[in-house]
Amino acid sequence: MKIHFVEVISEGYAYGPAFVTIPELILEDKKINVDKEIQKLEMALKQAAHDVVKHSTYEYFDIQNMMINDPILKKDAVEIIKKEKKNAATALSEALDKYKENLLKSNSKYLQERVYDLEDVKRRIILILLNKKNNFPKTPFVLVCDELMPSIFLENKENILGVVAKKAGMTSHGAILARGAGIPFVVCNNINLKNGEDIIIDTRRKALFEEPEESYILEISHLMNKNTDFEVKKYKEFNLLVNVFDNQEVKKAANLDVDGIGLYRTEFVFMHENRPMTYDEQQKIYKEAITLMNGKPVCFRTFDIGDDKQVAYIKAHHKGFLNYVNNPTIFETQIKALLASNVNGNLKIMFPMVETIDEFKYLKNWVLRIKKEMNNDKPILIGMMLETKKALISIDEFKEVDFISIGTNDLTQELFQIRRDEQSSKITAYVDDLLKALKKVVDFAKENKIYLSICGELASIPTISKAFMQLGIRNFSVSLSAFRDLNETVYEFNEKQD
Ligand code: PEP
Ligand code: MG
Repeated sequence: MKIHFVEVISEGYAYGPAFVTIPELILEDKKINVDKEIQKLEMALKQAAHDVVKHSTYEYFDIQNMMINDPILKKDAVEIIKKEKKNAATALSEALDKYKENLLKSNSKYLQERVYDLEDVKRRIILILLNKKNNFPKTPFVLVCDELMPSIFLENKENILGVVAKKAGMTSHGAILARGAGIPFVVCNNINLKNGEDIIIDTRRKALFEEPEESYILEISHLMNKNTDFEVKKYKEFNLLVNVFDNQEVKKAANLDVDGIGLYRTEFVFMHENRPMTYDEQQKIYKEAITLMNGKPVCFRTFDIGDDKQVAYIKAHHKGFLNYVNNPTIFETQIKALLASNVNGNLKIMFPMVETIDEFKYLKNWVLRIKKEMNNDKPILIGMMLETKKALISIDEFKEVDFISIGTNDLTQELFQIRRDEQSSKITAYVDDLLKALKKVVDFAKENKIYLSICGELASIPTISKAFMQLGIRNFSVSLSAFRDLNETVYEFNEKQD
């Protein structure tokens, strides 16, 4: 049995065969034929460009197409083959990594965000070069990847037992999805797992095991099947809600008797298909969620596309306001489907990445106009996520919002220039500054009787959620897997108060 120590991103246990998305590139000792490798590279680039164009004509794929056809990329890879005598796959991988470094160094957020496209491009071309199929298994497996792309997770969610990545942060969307679905997710850098080999993830031991022993497999299989239900302790002053991204999670939340859904990330609903979701499709999903929650508040965030969350049919250079203005039909279809699902009058609609009160008013009035046109008289609440620096600075102007939910994932990124995939290791350095900055938001909400909650990942870390409680925050929304700890933290906080 071989053991590797790991960083834990999402807790749990998994046992199953590894599926490696990008096979490790093993440098062969044997001499390569330079001309042949260059030829192979050219053919793979052509094939990848062809595949991308075949898939779609949308802009998302245009960007990938541009990357594949970039003459600098090809020139760099060819040079590595010629000078360093490396095979085409290794040369291309190294050339793309250089490309990636440059993107990350850029001052443009748009360019930085293209790293996710680059990862996808890398995977495609390398699989072609290694003559491997792009298909994910149709039976359960442990996903082994460089970084967890949300789209890959969603496409294979039913079969993913656990995830091992080379890189991830607590607030990357891959991490958020895995935690929401209760799937263990670990980061392990220097490991070379083989496709098909059986491995164990055991986050209790912060470890990953190769060639596990029979008795250990039995122990882990037992833990994997253990019932994780528990009785939620209720506190009058507190609302404990959950963040979800699909209705399977809503079902689990309803069974747990939580106080409501504090954040439904609807962009993941949009990722089900490679085309805009129709009104009927969306309405079915939203109505089911609302019905499942049986009168408790359900807060849907309008689609928050951009960054590592991309869909082929929406032009999303940045997350936020412009996505709605630039895609009015998609926005209106979503709002109509949400309003029509409001059977109990407990619908909350929340806009992400709001920067100014004018943006908020514009979107709110748009929703109200649609509501009027539909002759819909059910009550709704319209609020915003507080997750941009601009909104934080001008928070006193936001008196018109029905509620505010603090998104610490984006907010900390904006305030302290920390990338989402780095956050976990840097939390302690900035948390005091964040608390100081949020004090005025708590005071503002109190003064104006605005419901204030927190739905970013920091609320899942007990020591930090306790600090938010001390600051006066009483409404928390966390992923399902963090709910038990949150409930425990509230219990401890209340014990101390008594
Ligand atoms: C946040 O930014 O804190 C948040 C909850 O939204 P997301 O993680 O989906 O960007
Ligand atoms: Mg956010």
